[in-house]
Amino acid sequence: MKNALHTHTELLGLIGHPIKHTFSPMMHNVASQLLDADYLYLPFDISPAELKEGISGLKALGFKGFNVTVPHKEAIFPFLDAVSEEAVVIGAVNCVVNNSGALQGYNTDAFGVQYALDPFREEITGSPVMIFGAGGASRAAVYALIRHYRPSVIHIVNRTVQRAEQIAHHFKQQMHYEGIETSESAPFDTDAIMRGCKLIINTTSLGMTPLTTDSPVSSSEGFTRDQIVFDMVYNPVKTQFLRFAEEKDAVTIEGIKMLVAQGAKSFELWTGKQMPVAEIYDTLLKYLNP
Ligand code: NAP
Repeated sequence: MKNALHTHTELLGLIGHPIKHTFSPMMHNVASQLLDADYLYLPFDISPAELKEGISGLKALGFKGFNVTVPHKEAIFPFLDAVSEEAVVIGAVNCVVNNSGALQGYNTDAFGVQYALDPFREEITGSPVMIFGAGGASRAAVYALIRHYRPSVIHIVNRTVQRAEQIAHHFKQQMHYEGIETSESAPFDTDAIMRGCKLIINTTSLGMTPLTTDSPVSSSEGFTRDQIVFDMVYNPVKTQFLRFAEEKDAVTIEGIKMLVAQGAKSFELWTGKQMPVAEIYDTLLKYLNP
């Protein structure tokens, strides 16, 4: 290893609880090696009760920056000195830069969503959209959609409809957007509304390895060949949800695209360098289930 552990090695990391099945250390460490840059990225399992001490520890050790994952994405706000516009509006931080002791929070998931959707900007702008799920990833998607593509309507379908309603209320207040409609996933029949949407996004964790036959929809009935279908689940690369969409010849976008883009944005914020995204993409493909 060219970049292993010199005295000037800059430290990067990830905090979450539990920390399992993360591909972030591999992405960032491989990127550093490919660029011959002297960074080391480490994962840390920090419980909610230890969050304050954990952040103090990272600051004391001079970490240049770190990613933040479940369950700390909202809880970290009081420990930050500044927060970017998109992270404030989304209400979640997934990337922190340590500027000589001053912590600045960002949400690079929103950038990842935009990166995945931008090739379809013309089709998406002003069109009806459906989102399955109402967690943190859904909020990042809603932000990116309103900010960049202003959909005519965003239907949010979620198992717990109250969480979808909270998102509708939140974005009405934060971005003055009144086009969010909400539904409960069962027994609500989504197919008819889906067929009228240009873009369909899965932001639930349904379909993730090992439960790869799961999907927010039970058939291909709601898909059409005119649609763009994006699944944020990245392992497996080709989910059941995307397989249903392909049965109807819809255009599909895999979650790995967003995964690499949000990682690349974090890497750039910490190091000022461009992640070699094509190489990282190929590296990830070797470790993810097809
Ligand atoms: P989260 O905040 O925990 O939200 C999870 C969502 O999935 C909620 O809407 C939840 O519904 C729904 N859900 C979970 N289990 C379900 C089940 N058995 N049946 C129906 N709905 C279920 O998680 P998140 O941070 O938003 O992440 C969601 C997914 O996006 C994960 O798979 C994550 O890996 C992926 N993601 C990918 C990227 C990327 O770069 N590709 C980035 C961020 C996230 P309830 O509200 O009813 O619980």
